[in-house]
Amino acid sequence: MKKKIDKLKVYKSKRNLKGSKEPTGKSQSKKLKHPVFVIQKHKSRNLHYDFRIEVDGVLKSWAIPKGPSLNPSVKRLAMPTDDHPLNYATFEGVIPKGHYGAGTVMVWDIGTYKNMDKKYSMKKCYKDGKIKINIFGQRIKGEYVLLRTGLKSGGWLLIKMVDEHASARRNPIATQNKSVLSGCTMTEINKDK
Ligand code: MN
Repeated sequence: MKKKIDKLKVYKSKRNLKGSKEPTGKSQSKKLKHPVFVIQKHKSRNLHYDFRIEVDGVLKSWAIPKGPSLNPSVKRLAMPTDDHPLNYATFEGVIPKGHYGAGTVMVWDIGTYKNMDKKYSMKKCYKDGKIKINIFGQRIKGEYVLLRTGLKSGGWLLIKMVDEHASARRNPIATQNKSVLSGCTMTEINKDK
């Protein structure tokens, strides 16, 4: 019998899921036509934006301190973090004190994406550290690249490609402060717990 590898072992090991309302990773979300894309605004020790894309049955994840930019001349640092279960994409709420990532989580943008690489699967692109995708979010749209830097820090860079959605002027990270799912601000999500 083939041994089943638990891809979310790291995710589960860091969490006491009994005391937190975060998804357990047991149930899979239903299949969409395109893989899932989500950005969660997360106020834990530091404010950051968790950028997640569905690859091979899990959400590959990066923490982006400044969030994505629409400006192709701006490179945003994206630090890889643990794979998350697919149903984490719609999680919004408060992770209790003492739990991993304790703080407030908002679904800042959600949608789907498409792999723009004609030759390789997303799994291979992730492994190679070269990802080119077209994002169909509500606030983030168009082509982006994610590149592993090769630096000791393990950091990646998220860069907007030049297309009709690029803008050197617009900055939704600064102007959009409400959830795309609930319409709540971070303060409202925090009060609602
Ligand atoms: Mn986070």
